Amino acid sequence: MFSPNSTSDVRRALCLRGLGATIVRLAKVRLLRISFSCLLLTLGLLWPSRTIAGTQNYAEASLPVFELHSGFWINLHHTLYQEARQRKAILSRDANTTKSAAATAKSVLAGKGLTDTEQKAWDDAVAFYMLNYADKDLLFTTELIQLKDQLGDFEDCDELSGRKRKFCDAGLPANLTLVLEAAAPVYRAHLWPEHDKANRRWILQVAPLVREQGVGLSERLADIYQTRWPHGKIRVDVVAYANWAGAYTTVDPLRVTISSLDSRNQGPQALEVLFHEGSHGIAEPVQRAIIRECRQRDKPIPRDLWHALVFYTTGEVIRTVLTSSLASSADKGNGGPASGYSAYAFREGLYQRGWKNYLELLQRFWQPYLDGKATFDDAIARMVSSL
Ligand SMILES: [Zn+2]
Repeated sequence: MFSPNSTSDVRRALCLRGLGATIVRLAKVRLLRISFSCLLLTLGLLWPSRTIAGTQNYAEASLPVFELHSGFWINLHHTLYQEARQRKAILSRDANTTKSAAATAKSVLAGKGLTDTEQKAWDDAVAFYMLNYADKDLLFTTELIQLKDQLGDFEDCDELSGRKRKFCDAGLPANLTLVLEAAAPVYRAHLWPEHDKANRRWILQVAPLVREQGVGLSERLADIYQTRWPHGKIRVDVVAYANWAGAYTTVDPLRVTISSLDSRNQGPQALEVLFHEGSHGIAEPVQRAIIRECRQRDKPIPRDLWHALVFYTTGEVIRTVLTSSLASSADKGNGGPASGYSAYAFREGLYQRGWKNYLELLQRFWQPYLDGKATFDDAIARMVSSL
């Protein structure tokens, strides 16, 4: 998901998505994962409960299709990343701004009553992120993807070094482990409770719709893309801050990260965000078909078209489901708008900001396919030939 301010933003986002889909994780990390999983199995009987005191993570695993998590470390990581980028932006905008002024102006912990020691630990962690990560994209940088996945996997640990429990050695670089463990008590004391609360609220709000509509939606979308929905539940990490787009998806393994605070992800639209992001895992047949048709016609490949198509398709499918669902809810006197669900791409003005031609093509040639009046191949061929 994203809300571009210009055509170049749209292009950048699409480019990022495309690259993200080709990222292959290093075999080394896979081995680490496998050995960690084996270790967990071995130690399973010794583990007193899913949650170790002090972490207080939450996982909604009873839903179909998605497994929704509110995890401590991955939230801390994204919060530090967010703050580091904000401080950098302030410093680069105004060369006269000092580092301490930038920190005071934008710290998410401003006004929280930190002690000097706590403030220093937090500022040191933000400085580390400014130096090492703030200029890297969460979606395109293999290092950040692996780090995010590792922190999700270790959400039940209250440390990352393995000092107290060997199986909590996350295998991160030693200096990063020190930074995160030093910032953790500050975050846990002053911000995590409200972030966790927002994450849980977001999860609880979307859960009934996922429970009610999730399987049907996943089957319908997989059918449209002429593929299968991924086997097993897709892990979704719900975080206070995600990336600039408010949500992003990485593959191998397929994982979704969604911001619980982002205004674009609220209300019934949360369901669309979930399924749009999940669709990143199954939309490859569309990309392949567009490329094939372009090559046959000797046309340049429009790298944005597949993503516009995914936005359009998810929006239409969700709109159909939610309109009837909200209407029946209103009929029962439960309130809420009974009609006019506005799909994400329309609501956020994506088509008006660079995709107007694509919208016309989608409405003219792709919609008949969604309505069962054209074939997949014909719809793609006609869109490409009209480019
Ligand atoms: Zn997307």
